[in-house]
Amino acid sequence: MKLTYEPVIGLEIHGELLTNSKMFCSCSADYGSAPEPNTNICPTCTGLPGAMPVVNKKATELAALVGLALNCSINKHNTFARKNYYYPDLPKGYQISQYELPIAEKGLLEVNDGSDNQLNVRVRRVHIEEDTAKLAHEKNYALVDFNRAGVPLLEIVSEPDIRTVEAALDYATKVRTILRYLGVNSGDMEKGVLRFEANISVRPVGSDEFRTRTEIKNLNSFRALVRASQYEIERQIKIYEEGGTVVQETLGWDDVRGVTTSQRSKEEAHDYRYFPEPDLPPLQLSDSWIAEIKSRLPELPEAKTSRFISDFGLTLSEARFLTSERTLANYFESVVSKSKSPAKTIHSWIAGEFMRYLNDSGLSIDDVTLAPETLAKLIDMVTDKTIGASAGKTVLTELFKNGGDPAQIVKEKNLLQMTDVNAIQEIVMKILNDNPKEVDDYNAGKETLFQWFMGQVARATKGKADPNVTKELMVKGLEERKK
Ligand code: ADP
Ligand code: MG
Ligand code: ZN
Repeated sequence: MKLTYEPVIGLEIHGELLTNSKMFCSCSADYGSAPEPNTNICPTCTGLPGAMPVVNKKATELAALVGLALNCSINKHNTFARKNYYYPDLPKGYQISQYELPIAEKGLLEVNDGSDNQLNVRVRRVHIEEDTAKLAHEKNYALVDFNRAGVPLLEIVSEPDIRTVEAALDYATKVRTILRYLGVNSGDMEKGVLRFEANISVRPVGSDEFRTRTEIKNLNSFRALVRASQYEIERQIKIYEEGGTVVQETLGWDDVRGVTTSQRSKEEAHDYRYFPEPDLPPLQLSDSWIAEIKSRLPELPEAKTSRFISDFGLTLSEARFLTSERTLANYFESVVSKSKSPAKTIHSWIAGEFMRYLNDSGLSIDDVTLAPETLAKLIDMVTDKTIGASAGKTVLTELFKNGGDPAQIVKEKNLLQMTDVNAIQEIVMKILNDNPKEVDDYNAGKETLFQWFMGQVARATKGKADPNVTKELMVKGLEERKK
């Protein structure tokens, strides 16, 4: 009998923290703005002998904030440790990290397992460390730029609780969203400020053993996370099916070839010779400090989603969409508060025409200058039938492009909706009289022609006739012409 296998996945997520200065010196953390390589550096972040590190207070606040958002407990006493290894992008020959006592541990994040079941993923630890320099590999040599060396980095490590690639994707997505909500990381994966590592093993379904795992390093997009995980799961299953054993190793992901590649045999923790960082005292956090950080927590995506469902009568997926970005959720709520239209209608406009415009123009919600009250005005004009839906779209495009006042644009473009029944009736009658053949065909059973008649009215009125009134009159007119 052939065994079926399930994956066991644990994720490590590295995110740079949005502080002004680096983790242990006063160089700028905004290394992307440095004019030249190796200009944003000092004796500390280039590892010169005798230079002393000083902990960045803001980074500890942001790290604690993330710990609290991930339902972790904060270690009031936590310590820095040296992780020793040699690599050209690591000037000191060690990385200052946290080992035995991280700033936060034992958290929990609820994710969707891909079959609409909720799954609790335990967060093992959240710790502070520092980013490395950047290497540029040339043909026969490599160049090193220390501008990034020492930028505050947060590592979030999950327990191996994930059992599907979909759940891994949802976990990673949710962590990114939370980091963005907290304003601690931009989530800009192309810039490398957020990176995933997937630890993967497979085992026969029904077994609860933890088999040898491999670790795929530096996954720089959600797509890479998904593809690399799927590839690695298949690779390991094949090894077991052929009677082989999986070797514990660190892998890279070759996005072009779509394969994982061996980088080195996986080192164990003891290979790093971790020891307490002698140049830094332990961090002692008081209850009042932790309480103050906790009071800074914004409403998080899950809570916001539930509130949008109960307050605004939205479906789960509608609420999820709106809360996927904090700025989008705020924008929506702002429009709702300024508008007389139902929240559902406002969701439809934002999820529909509004997003379409942003996507087509390559803009994000953060780029939107259209004031929520202006959008509210426009939506209300459609709701109270001053203008039709298609005219509303025209006005929205105009507002995005040139700004202005919705009522003024409606006037200038002559978009007022025709609601006068007699006027619409006249047009409907004319169209029916002018097209006797189509009328006969319709009445003989060719029902698809109804849309054609409606289209004729839209054409004659430039889309301004109230569609409900038109429809009613059209049905009546066709009925009267039945032989
Ligand atoms: P370290 O990297 O310090 O050696 P661990 O090996 O315990 O620490 O865990 C690192 C990551 O690997 C964690 O995210 C953990 O959930 C995951 N992991 C541990 N064991 C397994 C396993 N058998 N299969 C898949 N993932 C695992
Ligand atoms: Mg690791
Ligand atoms: Zn420095």
